[in-house]
Amino acid sequence: WPLLYAKERAMERGVPFGVLFVVGPMFNHGSRRHNDWMVASLQVVEAGLREKQIPFFVRTGEWAETVASFVEEEEIGEVVFDQNPLEPVRSWREQAAAAVAVKVWEVDGRNVVPVWCASEKAEFAARTIRPKLHKQLKEFLTDYPNLVTQTEVWPRSVPAIDWEAVRSYRTCAVEAPLPEAMEPGEAAARRCLDSFIEHRLEGYDERRNDPNQDALSGLSPYLRWGNISAQFVAKQVQDADAPRADRDAFIEELIVRRELSDNYVYYTKDYDTISAAHEWAQKTLAEHRDDEREYVYTFDEFEQAKTHDELWNAMQQQMVQEGKMHGWCRMYWAKKILEWTNTPEYAIEVALTLNDRYELDGRDSNGVVGVMWSIAGVHDRAWTERPIFGKIRYMNYSGAKRKFNVDAYVKRYTGTAELFDDKTG
Ligand code: FAD
Repeated sequence: WPLLYAKERAMERGVPFGVLFVVGPMFNHGSRRHNDWMVASLQVVEAGLREKQIPFFVRTGEWAETVASFVEEEEIGEVVFDQNPLEPVRSWREQAAAAVAVKVWEVDGRNVVPVWCASEKAEFAARTIRPKLHKQLKEFLTDYPNLVTQTEVWPRSVPAIDWEAVRSYRTCAVEAPLPEAMEPGEAAARRCLDSFIEHRLEGYDERRNDPNQDALSGLSPYLRWGNISAQFVAKQVQDADAPRADRDAFIEELIVRRELSDNYVYYTKDYDTISAAHEWAQKTLAEHRDDEREYVYTFDEFEQAKTHDELWNAMQQQMVQEGKMHGWCRMYWAKKILEWTNTPEYAIEVALTLNDRYELDGRDSNGVVGVMWSIAGVHDRAWTERPIFGKIRYMNYSGAKRKFNVDAYVKRYTGTAELFDDKTG
C-alpha cells in the first residue's frame, strides 16, 4: 500500500517515484540471521522493482539523517513512510519527518485494517477488537490493484547497490547464522503459503497446538519481513477449499491476534514494561515479588538452554537452531522465565532479548505482546492465584504432557549447542 500510494502521489504530480530503504544501526537485539534475511529479501525487492522500472536506493547510516539528505539530494517532492509502531523505528520516522521540508505521509501496509482505523485506543483484549476488525474487513480485505510499469524516468543516475557493503554495515549482538532450511524472499513466502493451503490448512484448528505436528503455516518470518502481506495471505486462505472452522481459526490468528498486537504497541506508552500491564496484573505481580523461587537462572543459563527442565531447554534449542519456536511452546517458554527469574521486569527483559535475538519473526509487535501476555497478563484476565505468578495465567510441565508427546519433542531438539560458540559480544 505505501508503494501504491507513492505511485498515486507521483502520478498526480506528473513525476517519477522511487523506493529508499535505509539500513540504520542494528537495534533491538538483531543478530546475523536477521541481517542476512533482510539483505537477501532486499535483493529480491530490487529485482521486482527493476521489472517495473521503479528505481531502488539502499543507503546505510543514521536513519533520520540519511532520509533527510536523500530527500535533499534527489529533490524529492513528497515522502511516503511505512507504518511500523515499534521503537526505535517509530522515533526515527518522526525525526526524519521533522527533518525534511516536504509533505510526508504514513501508510499502514502491515495490517489489513490500518491500525488507526481499527480502533482509536489500546484495546482491552481480542474480544474487544474482533468486532471492530470484522466490521471493516469488507472495506479493507480486497485484492491489490495492479502495479503497472513506471513510464516516468528518474532524472539522475541510480547507483548500483553494493550488497556486500550493505551486508557488513551492521554490528550484530550475536552471530547466530541463518538456519539453512529457512529461505528468505517473496517466492519462498509464496511457496510456504501454497504448501500450507494445500497440505496443512485443513485440520489447522485441531492440530495447531501440538508442537510435534507440522501444522502451522510457518509464515511469520515472511510476514515480519514484508516478503508477503497479511492481506494477500488472508485473501488466499479465505478463498481456499478448506473447512470453514480451519479458515476461521487461521484468520483469527492472522488478522485479529496480529492486528491486536500492533494496536497495543501503537497506542501503549512503554509497551514492554510492567507499567503497561492491566492494573490487576501490576498489583498481583507486586504482591508476589518477594515469593521464594525454587530455581533462578542467569541470562547465559537461559540462552545456553541450561535449566533443570528438559522441555524448556528443547524449546530454547528449537528457537536457536531453527530460528522459530512453535507457537504453543512460546507461551510455556516465556512463563517459565517469569517463574525462574527474581523479578517480572527482568523476566520481560530476558524473554524479549532471547526472542528478538533468535526468532526470525522477532523484533515485531507480536513478540512484544507474546511476552507481555505471558509474563504480565496483557490482553488476558486474572486466573487462580498461585506463588510467583499471582493471578497471571500459569502453565506447567504436566499440562504440556497432557497436550502433546513431550518426550518426542525433547528428543528432537536436545543436543546441539554450536550456535552459542561464535558470539561476538
Ligand atoms: P500460524 O499459526 O500459522 O499463524 C499465522 C500468523 O498469524 C502468524 O504468522 C502470525 O502473524 C499470526 N499469529 C499467530 N499467532 C499469533 C499470536 N499469538 N499473536 C499474534 N499473532 C499471531 N509472533 C511473531 O510474529 N513474532 C514474534 O516475535 C513472536 N514472539 C512470541 C513470543 C511469545 C512469548 C509468544 C507467546 C508468542 C509470540 N508470537 C510471535 C506469536 C506466535 O507464537 C507466532 O506468531 C506464531 O507461532 C508464528 O508461527 P506461524 O506463522 O507458523 O503461525
